[in-house]
Amino acid sequence: MKLAVVVPDGLADFPVKVLGGKTPLEAAKLPNLHALAGRSILGTVCTVPAGMYPGSDICCLNLFGYDPKQYYPGRAPLEAANLGLVLKPGEFALRCNLVTADGHVLKDYSAGHVSTEEAEILIREIQKHLGSDRFGFYPGKQYRHILICKTDGPLEVEMDAPHDFQGQSYERHWPRGRDAQMFIELTQKSREILEHHAVNHKRARAGKGKANMIWLWGGGAAPVIETLQQKYGIRGGVISAVDLLNGLGRYLDMEIITVPGATGYFDTDYRAKGEAAVKAIDRLDLIFVHVEATDEAGHSGLVDEKVNAIEQIDEHIVGPVLQRLQKEPEWRMFVSPDHYTPLEKKTHVAEPVPFIFAGHDVRQGSGLPYTEKTARSTGVRIEKGNELMESLVHGWRF
Ligand SMILES: [Zn+2]
Repeated sequence: MKLAVVVPDGLADFPVKVLGGKTPLEAAKLPNLHALAGRSILGTVCTVPAGMYPGSDICCLNLFGYDPKQYYPGRAPLEAANLGLVLKPGEFALRCNLVTADGHVLKDYSAGHVSTEEAEILIREIQKHLGSDRFGFYPGKQYRHILICKTDGPLEVEMDAPHDFQGQSYERHWPRGRDAQMFIELTQKSREILEHHAVNHKRARAGKGKANMIWLWGGGAAPVIETLQQKYGIRGGVISAVDLLNGLGRYLDMEIITVPGATGYFDTDYRAKGEAAVKAIDRLDLIFVHVEATDEAGHSGLVDEKVNAIEQIDEHIVGPVLQRLQKEPEWRMFVSPDHYTPLEKKTHVAEPVPFIFAGHDVRQGSGLPYTEKTARSTGVRIEKGNELMESLVHGWRF
């Protein structure tokens, strides 16, 4: 049995005026997706559990077949995993931003988008002075780094995200709770180490913001999660340009397939992603292809880019993957966005998303094209997003 999942991130949308009241999905030319929907099961699926944020990591965890309420480990453990730091029991990961502080004000959560090269020097300096058996600082990309902290039990600390209080006194946003003090001290010491570092003198001379302090937030412990092999008895691979999703793939022990030219943006190489997916089907039971471009277009409010991205996914990914699968006697596939990223809202919205479920054993088709409206009209609705993967592996059961 060969299985495939295609996730056009943020694909689903509301009607758009300049498209004559159509959604991008309705306006795009999609020969493969529409034909597939016609001979497959069409419906909607709830990917965002009540009370959770409609982030791609949470929604995709659901589409990977894991209930986020039970399994979501938090952002930092996923980002750590993407750096190759898969957390062990007793380890706690925190996001470590490089920020610009001015007096007691947090001026910039990204330290003027400090470069990865400069950041690496600064984080290694922090590690030299503040690293210990207990604390390890690891450089990531630009302003986004990781602190891994060893603990005896669960940490009790609440922390604020720095992009939420720019321009305010950071002392009013210090970590709170029983274990907060050590993180406050690390932050204060980082200022002493970084303020007069050569990298920052150079940045200041060039009129750029100094990366003169760290800010810790977004922590989480090692997730207790079964691998895809343990949970479903299958060997899977993931193709995505997004760090958080690759981190998730590592915890699930999936093969992380990097595709040259896959950028996570409109200029991504759709054809290369499709070809990599087709090749991966030869050696794996499941391939999970995630495309970020549709979401980026939604965030930017770019109508034409969103329509074009969907058409590219149809032609270069859905088409070839489907062709390859149909050479097998037994196969299944689903196509589903993780969430809505409506052009008019420019942000994620928690709504049930339209999906197509296809396979050798799907006997009756919907007879409909693939749109938000047609998916709602069938009345097929899956309340728990992880059940789509259950059906992919074990057969449709609704
Ligand atoms: Zn997004």
